[in-house]
Amino acid sequence: MTIKEFKENCWIIYGFKKNNILYGYQIHESTGNLASVDFNWKKILKYRSRIIGFNHTHLSGLTPSSIDDNTMAGWVKALEKPLICGIRDNKEQSMYLYERKSNQKISYRPVLFKKTGNLIRIRIW
Ligand SMILES: [Zn+2]
Repeated sequence: MTIKEFKENCWIIYGFKKNNILYGYQIHESTGNLASVDFNWKKILKYRSRIIGFNHTHLSGLTPSSIDDNTMAGWVKALEKPLICGIRDNKEQSMYLYERKSNQKISYRPVLFKKTGNLIRIRIW
């Protein structure tokens, strides 16, 4: 499969936080070109209280790209809360928590998670 044939898939992760665990389930949102997936701003703002993050596919590599950094920083600011950025390729899944630090900079760190079917449990602390 070439890069041109690769379609990036995105999911919105809905859920809630209890203690230090995020409980979520993902719903497929869109299929688009690499690095240009359309997100529905109105919908995300409408359901902001229930959204805990996003998941998307990479052709290869499970590290956030600079585009992911910019996109996630925008969402963390817009939704005013830490958010999960999931990245998966055809074999593996990684998850990162993007959050605003005390110096106002938005940074990410990997988080442990367990995925059972569509249910995702993410440990944040
Ligand atoms: Zn990405």
